[in-house]
Amino acid sequence: MKHLYIHIPFCHRRCSYCDFNTYANMEDRIAAYVAALCTELAMLAAEAPPPPPASAEAAALRPTIFLGGGTPTMLSLAQIERVLAAAAPLIPLAEAEITSEANPGTVLERDYLRGLRALGVNRLSMGVQSLHDPTLRLLGRIHSAAEARRSVADARAAGFDNLNLDFIFGLPGQDLAGWERTLATIGTWEVEHFSLYSLILEERTPLYAQVTAGRVSVPDDDATAAMYEAAMERLGAAGYTHYEISNWTRSRPCQHNLAYWLNSDYLAAGAGAHGHVYPTRYVNLLGVDDYIKAVASGRWPIAETTALTADDLCAETMMMGLRLSAGVSAAHFAARCGRSLDEAYGATLRDLAAQELIVWGDGRVRLSPRGRMLGNRVFARFV
Ligand code: SF4
Repeated sequence: MKHLYIHIPFCHRRCSYCDFNTYANMEDRIAAYVAALCTELAMLAAEAPPPPPASAEAAALRPTIFLGGGTPTMLSLAQIERVLAAAAPLIPLAEAEITSEANPGTVLERDYLRGLRALGVNRLSMGVQSLHDPTLRLLGRIHSAAEARRSVADARAAGFDNLNLDFIFGLPGQDLAGWERTLATIGTWEVEHFSLYSLILEERTPLYAQVTAGRVSVPDDDATAAMYEAAMERLGAAGYTHYEISNWTRSRPCQHNLAYWLNSDYLAAGAGAHGHVYPTRYVNLLGVDDYIKAVASGRWPIAETTALTADDLCAETMMMGLRLSAGVSAAHFAARCGRSLDEAYGATLRDLAAQELIVWGDGRVRLSPRGRMLGNRVFARFV
């Protein structure tokens, strides 16, 4: 297997919009969790299936490890070293893109960043989210905009030459002019990659409750769409290629996420982590203690597995691949799904092309500019 996701479900504080599988005030479980994670990785290494035949595009990807969360940078350097050593039998570390997510508020020590880089982590993905301090406070973030900027500079000084920054648009109180100022600023930071997400109000989050109670207001859909268009324009002008619906890069597309968008197989370890080894998808137990207990008693910590059909594989290959600006190549689809695009979706694709929602030609299917704005309408045709 070529790709591995590792979930670190700890945060100093829960952000008000977050519905990821992550927990605050559980620092006392980190050591036991790391031990369980290393055991699960050893179990995976003992049983990992051989990689399936891959298309040329999937084969061209580097192996990847993605430390996601939660906040992986709440682990000590010694703990991250243990986790990577446990992952080494699965993924060749020296060749791999090894990403760690980082909350800027947890990487304020320069030695920590230098240590992380020395351990082989070669891509850092920082959740900056906003450059407006009152908004950061409203979101429950533990850092200021200035601290985030400093962490970006420190990461560069520590030797990271592959940096991603996450931002959210459509935030409470945000307007187009404010977002354009943010884009103008970050366009000069010269990082390799941006992930820009529109705010999703998840039920069960404090922010959702504040908005539905009318205590906080967020921009409407038209205003949020204008912010997305501004991002395309501004980052394009700053030299970034818009290679996936929410992602821009100057030169270094994220290899791990490309594996997802190519609907490749990947292993996953940690509480609540999702893995995909066709014809099966699995999700691990969500709770930290449940996860630790399962692994400690020698059981797989899997909460649920889903059997995938050949039709599921085709549909997911389309829905994930159409997120890419390059779209889905006929050769990749045939290699991954064992059927031709025309055989699987000929009539659907002809109809979508007639509606100018996709472009189908040169052996590829991609969203048209109109299809990009109406992506959900296109994706629904493959469900
Ligand atoms: S730091 Fe990230 S994972 Fe943690 S609560 Fe905030 S948004 Fe969620």
